Amino acid sequence: MNSVKKGHLMELPSRVLIGYDIIEEFGNFLNDLAIDKSVLFVGGKRVHSTVNDIIAESMETSELSFDWKIIENATTSVTDDVSEFCKSNNYGLIVGIGGGKSVDVAKLSSYRANLPFVSFPTSASHDGISSPFASIKGSDRPYSFVASPPLGIFADIKIISQAPDRLLSSGCGDLIAKITAIKDWELARDNSGEKFRNYAASLSYMSSQILFDESLNFSSNKIDSVRNVVEALISTGVAAGIAGSSRPCSGSEHLISHALDIVSPNNGLHGEKCGMASIAMSKLHGLDWQNIRNALLRVNCPTNVSDIGITADELIEAINLAPTIRPERYTILNTANLDRESIRKLLSETSCI
Ligand SMILES: [Zn+2]
Repeated sequence: MNSVKKGHLMELPSRVLIGYDIIEEFGNFLNDLAIDKSVLFVGGKRVHSTVNDIIAESMETSELSFDWKIIENATTSVTDDVSEFCKSNNYGLIVGIGGGKSVDVAKLSSYRANLPFVSFPTSASHDGISSPFASIKGSDRPYSFVASPPLGIFADIKIISQAPDRLLSSGCGDLIAKITAIKDWELARDNSGEKFRNYAASLSYMSSQILFDESLNFSSNKIDSVRNVVEALISTGVAAGIAGSSRPCSGSEHLISHALDIVSPNNGLHGEKCGMASIAMSKLHGLDWQNIRNALLRVNCPTNVSDIGITADELIEAINLAPTIRPERYTILNTANLDRESIRKLLSETSCI
């Protein structure tokens, strides 16, 4: 919890461990963070049954006690329940272990319970593994909550490589999306005087360029690809911590993804929707949208509405709705003034529909 009132606070992870087949190191990793109380793992049933034995052994070797809180969804009521559970049980740290949901619930619960949090991703589907923002359903806002970044990130590439390929492709889509996110931030700086942080923007932009390079060899060595995508996702989340805002990670393409969550719920993954939307938004920015589309195709990320089970009309509706999702977030959609027909034309020209 941050009580600083003046100046620009940068919140960054204290320790990041990335390696192949390192799960037995987890207890040592926590000990190095000087945890002196019991640890709460927040995760889903499947992850619990897959990793509990080896984690138990590692925690015992490191003389750390722990409990599990099994969750099924990332909703406001689950988050409230986990933060109350933490406050009444005197834990010293929360570990979010799993895909996006468990990490997001642990991140926001720990923030509300004023406890440190460690991110232990089991897939590389979006940059929430390292960012200070959490997406929770059932709230009155369709975009992310502000929380704290993880104190530590523990990324076992062996575990992450075993996740379905679709999740990795989604992580690639979330990385490509940084190109339009940064362009939107530049536009907000130029047109509405918004504070622009060059270092954070450059770091996030670099992550998208790493993905472009990676896309050229994507299927040749999965372990290398997973590692590069994980490192890039961590970097872009760190960029958000440096900026103190989601601006380096999230622009018009993210607003469209959030609007799709409302217009066509439960279709498509976050990174898939952001990646596809970035194709159309990059054309509005005058960028080489075909280059972005080709990179997405190379990493098997959807580029057309039919790939993720939404209709052309739903995407048009989402783009129409997007500027109202966060009215204070200035993007290319504020200057483009698109009506439904021009949205349809844009999507058709970029092969999104
Ligand atoms: Zn994202």
